[in-house]
Amino acid sequence: MVVSRGWKVLGFVGFVVVFEILTNVLIFLNPQQSEDFQFAHFLINAVTLVMLISLLFTTQKKSKELEQSTQKLNSIFDSLDVAIWSHDIKANVLIITPGIEKLYGYPLQQFYDDHLLWKKVIHPDDAHVLKEREELLKEEKSVTSVYRIIRPDGDVRWIQDSGIPTHDEKGEFIDFTSVLFDITEQKEGEERYKGLVEMSPDFIAVIRDWKLIFINEAGAKILGAERPPDLIGKPVMQFVPSDEAKKIYDTLQEMDQGQLAQKRFDLQINTYQQKKFDLEMSIMTVLYEGKMARLVVGRDITERKKAEEIIHQMAYYDSLTGLPNRNMFKDQLNNRLLNPINKEDKVAVLFLDLDRFKVINDTKGHTTGDLILRKVAIRLSDAVKDEGIVSRQGGDEFLILLTDTTNEKIENVAKSIINSLSQPLLLQNEEFFVTTSIGISLYPEDGDDQETLIKNADTAMYLAKERGKNNYQYYNHSLNQLSTRKMELEVELRRAIEKNQLFVHYQPQVELESEEIVALEALLRWEHPEYGLVSPAEFIPLAEETGLIVPIGTWVLRHVCEQLQIWKQKGISIRVAVNISVRQMQESTFSSCVREAIEEYGIDATSLELEITESIMQNIENSSAVLAELKELGVTISIDDFGKGYSSLSYLKHLPIDKIKIDKTFVDDICDHTNNGSIAKAIIDMGHNMNFTVIAEGIETIEQVSFLKQHNCKYGQGFHYSKPLPKEEVQKIL
Ligand code: C2E
Ligand code: MG
Ligand code: MG
Repeated sequence: MVVSRGWKVLGFVGFVVVFEILTNVLIFLNPQQSEDFQFAHFLINAVTLVMLISLLFTTQKKSKELEQSTQKLNSIFDSLDVAIWSHDIKANVLIITPGIEKLYGYPLQQFYDDHLLWKKVIHPDDAHVLKEREELLKEEKSVTSVYRIIRPDGDVRWIQDSGIPTHDEKGEFIDFTSVLFDITEQKEGEERYKGLVEMSPDFIAVIRDWKLIFINEAGAKILGAERPPDLIGKPVMQFVPSDEAKKIYDTLQEMDQGQLAQKRFDLQINTYQQKKFDLEMSIMTVLYEGKMARLVVGRDITERKKAEEIIHQMAYYDSLTGLPNRNMFKDQLNNRLLNPINKEDKVAVLFLDLDRFKVINDTKGHTTGDLILRKVAIRLSDAVKDEGIVSRQGGDEFLILLTDTTNEKIENVAKSIINSLSQPLLLQNEEFFVTTSIGISLYPEDGDDQETLIKNADTAMYLAKERGKNNYQYYNHSLNQLSTRKMELEVELRRAIEKNQLFVHYQPQVELESEEIVALEALLRWEHPEYGLVSPAEFIPLAEETGLIVPIGTWVLRHVCEQLQIWKQKGISIRVAVNISVRQMQESTFSSCVREAIEEYGIDATSLELEITESIMQNIENSSAVLAELKELGVTISIDDFGKGYSSLSYLKHLPIDKIKIDKTFVDDICDHTNNGSIAKAIIDMGHNMNFTVIAEGIETIEQVSFLKQHNCKYGQGFHYSKPLPKEEVQKIL
């Protein structure tokens, strides 16, 4: 543009000069020209001058505009981290944009001085790229290469270099242009992402058209392949058992219909070696190499599933007799009540308590007691056959559920139980006589919910005891007036606080390795002037049933805080764990009650621990909120009797819990040679996996201690170390 405009100016000036020479020659040859001619000459000269000036002016303006737009273009190049290298080989003119300084860190001039500088700074590890590049350029092809350069300050940058060679008709290399980009950030991002995917311990794969198009190392291992490339192109359904396939089809359909962007589900897969694995899967639609594909991320949860199964078994079955336990019984009863029942059919709950069993247990020892319970369980099952479900409630109590039954059938079952137990039980050549008292409640006349039915069967059982044991009794409403021990206890418990009958014992929790005391558990005691020391195992459930646990629990909490204040003043610093019942947590004022106690006695929140049971899972929403408030205060939260009530571990994982206490039954299991502590071990591992502190409770023997230490359980509590002690005694040890 500039050049052609320059020529125009030059042409015009030339024309004017020739014209001037011609007219002046004419004037010279004929000085007597008319005035008209001279005027015309003057006019032409003036017009020419004006045109010349205006042409010069516009040309200057255009070149200024061009300069401005070049500058603008340069600043765009600068901001892009891009440089252009343009070499007209024929004319030997090299133009390099200043952006190269920013990319390479060397001054622009240095590239003009040394045309090979760009090559010299290439990272030695990428020298091979250069060779390949030169080959291709020779073949008259454009080529894009990626290599690293080393800047003068030592920084390594990634450069993307797109070279465009131009050849003339004879194939001579006449021009070469290269566009250079700094792609370090993109490269590093890619590498970081690649590293994350490759090194992830989780299964990561990309699937398109039901085939694997990418899989990482961990994924290949899980599927049983040596290396990821062995799996590329393989149909995914080859690894999914047919009964699981529907889960995938349904999920993908939901996603395709746009109802879901992402989905999580558990899936069982088959490896190459036909081994089964449980995976927790997430699947989402992504663009992969420009096309739609599914990204699948999975975590191996096989161990967790196994542990959950074991815990489920422990949670729903009684380990001593193998019968369903109380949880299972309640579930079954609830299920039955939720479904329609015929008018003629009845649902019956039979509550059994063995008569004088406590005497046998105390005189012959627990081992004999346990053997007798097992034998009784077999006899009960035989008597009930498939008419109903026999479960062990705990201790020497059993519950039987008869569904879709009649009065006649119920009585037949009750009679055949009494009959069957009237035969002596033979144990190591010794004969034992065990009888039972049975209470019966019926649905719907005696209650329409599980709790009422069990409670009323229990009450009827007391009547059977009062009527001389070894018989069965139906519940009737007048029974409620009967004064049983339970009712008496309830009346007395209401006055226990004001009558100063409650006090607290403290049981040490130790670090197993050093045997140092790290905390105490506060355990409530009730001394009644008539009944003597009543076991919390007896009065706590009663307090929970009647709601008395709320004022009693508050009393314990405040009492412990006061004790902590006294100890603090004496320079004793220790953490104390207080047992909290679910019923307390349901009170809207619970967390503020804890905060008030802490503030009032001026103790550190960290010296208070709250032990709650897994039953908080029943109302997960409320519990999460309360736990969050408590956590905010700074108190420690532990799950007591862990493993006893079946709770979903995935839920537990999301709650602000610090510690789990392995229930005594699992600690006892350590010495049981059939299981060899496998459950205790599973719980310890799982607890650690979820980052909980794990403590074992109810440790009684040195074997249990060494097993626990060996399996990395750090803390323990139990009679082996110390029984619960009065405050004066524990203070002495502290
Ligand atoms: P827990 O919280 O699981 O307490 C542990 C129970 O196991 C205590 O029984 C303790 O004395 C006993 N124990 C500790 N080590 C051993 C051992 O090595 N062998 C045996 N056989 N037993 C051991 P305790 O004091 O009778 O308490 C029974 C339950 O009563 C407690 O179980 C807890 O659930 C409840 N409880 C006690 N105090 C309170 C309280 O203040 N509030 C509430 N809500 N519940 C309480
Ligand atoms: Mg406890
Ligand atoms: Mg416990």
